[in-house]
Amino acid sequence: MSTYDVAVIGSGPGGYVAAIRCAQLGMKTAIIEKYSTLGGTCLNVGCIPSKALLDSSHHYHDAVKHFEDHGIEISGEIKMNLEKMMDRKASVVSQTCDGVKFLMDKNKIDVFEGIGSFKDKTHINIKKNDGETETIEAKKTIIATGSKPSNLPFIELDKERVITSTEALKLKEVPKHLIIIGGGVIGLELGQVYSRLGADVSVVEFMDRIIPTMDSALSKELTKVLKKQGVKFYTSTKVKSVERNGDEIIVKADDKKDKEVELKGDYCLVSVGRRPYTDGLNADAAGVTIDDRGRISVNEHLQTNVENIYAIGDVVKGAMLAHKAEEEGTFVAETIAGQKPHINYNLIPGVVYTWPEVASVGKTEEQLKEEGVKYKEGKFPMRALGRSRASGDIDGMVKILADEKTDEVLGVHMIGARTADLIAEAVTAMEFRASAEDISRMSHAHPTFAEAVKEAALAATDNRALHV
Ligand code: FAD
Repeated sequence: MSTYDVAVIGSGPGGYVAAIRCAQLGMKTAIIEKYSTLGGTCLNVGCIPSKALLDSSHHYHDAVKHFEDHGIEISGEIKMNLEKMMDRKASVVSQTCDGVKFLMDKNKIDVFEGIGSFKDKTHINIKKNDGETETIEAKKTIIATGSKPSNLPFIELDKERVITSTEALKLKEVPKHLIIIGGGVIGLELGQVYSRLGADVSVVEFMDRIIPTMDSALSKELTKVLKKQGVKFYTSTKVKSVERNGDEIIVKADDKKDKEVELKGDYCLVSVGRRPYTDGLNADAAGVTIDDRGRISVNEHLQTNVENIYAIGDVVKGAMLAHKAEEEGTFVAETIAGQKPHINYNLIPGVVYTWPEVASVGKTEEQLKEEGVKYKEGKFPMRALGRSRASGDIDGMVKILADEKTDEVLGVHMIGARTADLIAEAVTAMEFRASAEDISRMSHAHPTFAEAVKEAALAATDNRALHV
């Protein structure tokens, strides 16, 4: 039987990063993945394929809607080839997954393909696809088994027309009318993909606004922009049934006045969140506790109730994000090596990769109000930037919230072109506990979208924005 210092179960961004860091720190490391490709949800059916489709559909939409504004004339019809778009996405995914395999080999990490399940707290059975089971011994184990799409109890997912994000990433046709249940990140990103490709898209959201966990100013602006692009929204609306009749899907819901809303479409994407995944792990055999929401319980060191077993990523509490999982992977590897790492959970950015992109870090205005923190706000509209006008991306704004007395930046919320990248500046500034004035005094290249961050900081400092 092979013995390892560390075994990692699951090869998503949490698991594979943990394995690399363990190997870098000199530990003999194994990684166990039930699928034949490494990379988990993020690389196979999450972040990467969704961004590939967002980018392809963005190019198509630009060609149809905006090329003319830039003086580009195309003679003949601009056609979209969905099959080719999907093939391109598949090759982006496979290259990225191969990259993870390369990293495993480079770091001399043993990769086992099969379902990992605990035999006891130091032994893991690996059930392979050919039915054989191999057992390995591990002094420490890191559980990184991730998550799966959630569902509502009364919805039958046939995975053909009533689908999750996994199927939505590989449709063979553009829906005529795509009904999306859930106005969160995943629903909106995929909704925008198909809207750009020509589908009618309706989003039904139980809460009173889309992206309800983000600052309400972002929800408002994104709703406005997506409505302009043709997406229909039904907020404060509670879905009560989803039925399929041949190729037709009928969604019934109650609006906030308890009036019935009926939507008919040909596809229904259920994107109501994700649930932690521990099926087949046999956590009981190791004595690992799972909480009432299905998550592996961990302490502040991401250690389970069993001393030599840790858990990270989507399968534990906190934001279900790839970069959060990665930070936790590094954190646990370094903890096992006896180091004292740190994660600032308040500074994990959240991004929606629609266009305009939405990005956020730190406290929202709603949270600051609830916590009774006195704050000031600086806002700057993207349309006032030279760079925005040059590219034609005028929607959106940057909003900086700073402590009323100390001027420390407490939250940064932005929507606009390339804000997914711009948010890194806010994270850096906040990690160093910068004040709004600190940001406002840093030179930002002109003309860039990043100038909106400086201008919002100037606005927050003393209402000193220069270009509004
Ligand atoms: P996962 O990536 O879920 O990986 C877990 C792995 O463990 C899987 O490969 C699974 O097969 C394996 N596994 C499970 N049980 C076992 C077992 N018993 N034995 C062996 N293997 C097992 N996040 C972002 O930050 N940015 C984005 O843009 C983004 N876009 C997304 C788009 C979509 C459509 C979806 C669905 C998700 C997106 N996410 C995004 C979320 C992101 O994918 C997850 O937060 C991230 O993958 C979590 O990483 P993880 O390592 O915890 O788990």
